[in-house]
Amino acid sequence: MTALVWLRHDLRLRDNPALFKAAALEEGVVAVYVHCDAYVRLHDQSAAQRDFIRRHLHILRTDLAELNIPLLVSRVEKPAQIAPEILHLAQSLNAGHCFFNAEYPVNELNRDMAVNQLLREQGIAVKRCHDRCIVPPGMVRNGQGEPYKVFTAFKKKWLHTVMPLSLTPLDLPLCQAADPAVNGCTPEAIDQLFSAHELRDLSVLWSAGEQEAYTRLDEFIAHGLTGYLDQRDYPAIEGTSTLSPYFAVGSLSPRQALSAVLAYTYGDWSGNAGAACWISELIWREFYQHVVVDYPQVCKRKAMQAHTEAFPWQKDTGLFDAWCKGMTGIPIVDAAMRQLNATGWMHNRLRMIVAMFLTKNCQIDWRWGEQYFISQLIDGDFAANNGGWQWSASTGTDAAPYFRIFNPCSQSERFDPTGEFIRKWVPEIAHLSTKDIHSPPPQSGYPLPIVDLSESRKATIALFKNLQPYT
Ligand code: FAD
Repeated sequence: MTALVWLRHDLRLRDNPALFKAAALEEGVVAVYVHCDAYVRLHDQSAAQRDFIRRHLHILRTDLAELNIPLLVSRVEKPAQIAPEILHLAQSLNAGHCFFNAEYPVNELNRDMAVNQLLREQGIAVKRCHDRCIVPPGMVRNGQGEPYKVFTAFKKKWLHTVMPLSLTPLDLPLCQAADPAVNGCTPEAIDQLFSAHELRDLSVLWSAGEQEAYTRLDEFIAHGLTGYLDQRDYPAIEGTSTLSPYFAVGSLSPRQALSAVLAYTYGDWSGNAGAACWISELIWREFYQHVVVDYPQVCKRKAMQAHTEAFPWQKDTGLFDAWCKGMTGIPIVDAAMRQLNATGWMHNRLRMIVAMFLTKNCQIDWRWGEQYFISQLIDGDFAANNGGWQWSASTGTDAAPYFRIFNPCSQSERFDPTGEFIRKWVPEIAHLSTKDIHSPPPQSGYPLPIVDLSESRKATIALFKNLQPYT
C-alpha cells in the first residue's frame, strides 16, 4: 500500500505533520502538488510568490527523492477538478491513505471538504493535520467558549493554551521506499505547471528552500532577537527576521520558529524583551489565522465590523495609481511602495503607514489596497494581509480606533529619523536635508502631496463618527 501526501503551503520536509504521519504508517509514501490555474487568478497571487513556490518545488523534488518519496505534480484548470484529480492519483497509486495539512480560508476549507468526501466514498482514509499554527484554530476560547475579537485577550489565552502542547518540531519523514514503478516528476514538469502565468524571479533577494529558512532563522536568533524590540520599527535597519515569505509558503513552520527561541532562551523567554516581542508577532500571525476560521465573512471581502460597510469609500483610480507607483508626494509612503514594487516585501511599520494613508487620507477602499498588496508580495498570506488591512482601515477585529490616524510625515520623522530609508528608495530627493526630506518644500521639485493630510484626516474622522456600530 501507498500513503499519498498532498502538499500545499507546507513546502518542507521537517516538522511537516502530514509527511511525518504518512511515513509512520510504514508504507511507501508519494507526495503530490496540484497547481490550479483558476486559484492563481482568484487569489491574485503575485508572480514573485509563484516563482518562489516553483523554486521550492525544485528543491523539494530532490530532497524528497533522497528520502525515497517521489514527488508528482499535476495541473488543473478549475478548483472543481482538484478533488477528482487527487482521487485519480490516489487510485492509480493504490493508496489507502491521503494526508494533508489544513488550510483555513473558506475556499480552501471547501476544497478540502470535497476531497475528503470523495476519497472517503471510495474507501480511502483521509487525515487532515495541523501545521499552519502552533495552536490550531478552535483551541483558543474565552470563558463562554467563544472566539476572541481582541488580540491582547487572545494572546493571554494562547500563551496559556500552548504550554501543554508539544513544541518539539517533528523530524524527517523516514519511510519505506515507494513502489519502484512510481516515477517522480521531472524538473520540466514543475516548470510546466506555471507556464500559463507570469513569473517574477526574485531569487537574488529570496533564495528558496527550508535550508535557506533555517539559515535566516539561525542568523536572526543569534544576532537580531535580543535587539528586536528596539530595532523592529526602523525600516532602514535590518531589524526583523524577514522570514515571512518562508512562513507563507510553509518552508518554515511557526513551531520551528518558537522552538528556536525556546532553545536560545533556555526555555524562558520572559527575561529577553526582544524574544518576548518577537513571540508576540508570531501570536499576531496565529490570531489572524484563527480570525479567518471564526469569522469567515472576512474571506468574502466583507468587513469584520459590519457597520463599517457603510463607509463611503472613494473609487478614485488617480489617487490609487499614484499610491501603487509610489508617487503620492509623501516621501515615506513613496519609498515604502517602491520597496514593495522592487523587492516583493515591505517592512511592517511601512505596511501600516501606507495602508492608513490609503484608507484614511485617500479614503480608498481597503479592499483595493489588500488586493494590490497580495498581487505584489512574495510573503502574501490571506489571513495576515486581510488582518493588517482591516486593522489599518478600522474595519477589523482589534482595529485601530478610527480617530487614531497616523500622520505619515510624523511617522517618517520618528522611524526614519535621518531619512536614510527615503534616500535609498526615492533618490530624486536624496540631496534634501534631514529636516526637509520628510516633507519636501515646493521648490524642491518633488510632487506635492496628492491629498491634504490634515483636511483628509478630519473628513475621515467625521465620516466614521456618523457610522452607527451595531449593538
Ligand atoms: P518579523 O517582525 O520578524 O515577525 C516574525 C513573523 O511574525 C513574521 O514573519 C510574520 O509571520 C509574523 N508577523 C509579524 N507581524 C505580523 C502582523 N502584524 N500580522 C501577522 N503576522 C505578523 N504578513 C504576511 O506574512 N503576509 C502578508 O500578506 C501581510 N500583509 C500585511 C498587510 C498589512 C496592511 C499589514 C499592516 C501587515 C501585513 N503583514 C503581512 C504582517 C507583517 O507586516 C509582516 O508579517 C512582516 O512585515 C514580515 O516581516 P518579518 O518576517 O521580518 O517579520
